[in-house]
Amino acid sequence: MKKIIIGHKNPDTDTIVSSLIAEHYCNNILKIEAKAYRAGELNNETKFVLENFSTQAPELLEKVSEKASFILVDHNELSQAMDGVKIGQIERIIDHHKVNLQTEAPIFLRVDPIGSTASVLARMYAETGKKIPTNIAKLMLAGILSDTLNLNSPTTTDADKKLVKELNKVAKLNLKQFVVDLFSAKSSLKGISLAVLITQDYKVFEMGASKVGIAAWETTKPESVLVEKEKIIKLLLEKKQKEKLDYIVFMLVDIVAENSLLFIVGEKEQALLQKVFAGKITGDEMLLPKVVSRKKQIVPPLTEALTK
Ligand code: MN
Ligand code: MN
Repeated sequence: MKKIIIGHKNPDTDTIVSSLIAEHYCNNILKIEAKAYRAGELNNETKFVLENFSTQAPELLEKVSEKASFILVDHNELSQAMDGVKIGQIERIIDHHKVNLQTEAPIFLRVDPIGSTASVLARMYAETGKKIPTNIAKLMLAGILSDTLNLNSPTTTDADKKLVKELNKVAKLNLKQFVVDLFSAKSSLKGISLAVLITQDYKVFEMGASKVGIAAWETTKPESVLVEKEKIIKLLLEKKQKEKLDYIVFMLVDIVAENSLLFIVGEKEQALLQKVFAGKITGDEMLLPKVVSRKKQIVPPLTEALTK
């Protein structure tokens, strides 16, 4: 039975390209039979990437079989994994997030503190000394540039910058134009209902005894989302209740101005956010200048505050 390679729920571009790259790596380098799947619908940015590179999207995994074994990419927490995946079914993880899991048996674990899972995979290829096929190099570039917001996010490392240069010797993309198109697709609200807007890049974190949902929307046009703030807050409150969360936060990330606007849905959130970030609050918004990364700038301070 082929192993199942899969990224996190609410897949982003890094998760999708990493599953495809890992499929190539497993089959051609490790000589392990494995197939890439996705755990949800593609976002507009990922659709653009796959169409632009004439690459087929991974098949949607409808249901998890008890017998399946998994190779997880771009996540390692069960709360972000496809529903039904059990710890004992995970054979291998390739990721760039903080590790939050306890396994029952040894597994292959490759986690580097670097800008994207695509960067980790690019390093793994480099370590083999084998040539990276052009299409794989293109997918890697898309993953790195999407996750690091064109190497501007604080998650970016020098290694990511070097990898982009090296990979583009193979991919030969017009990177400037590619990033413009990538971010335009990222910001597109085409086919995006407000319910989708708050779930497309949504993750749940266990922070101490609290369950915290954090939705993000990265855009070059924050005003297109801001006009819907009241409705978005209402939907967030419904989601909070339905998923029995202790807190819910929505971060509107302005890729151009490099800041985030947090939508404050209630008093509990306001107290927490004020204590942790001390940003300027106007009505139900808190502006955080220079904050663009949930992983690096939002999750760690919140986790610290809620674990104490
Ligand atoms: Mn991701
Ligand atoms: Mn990633």
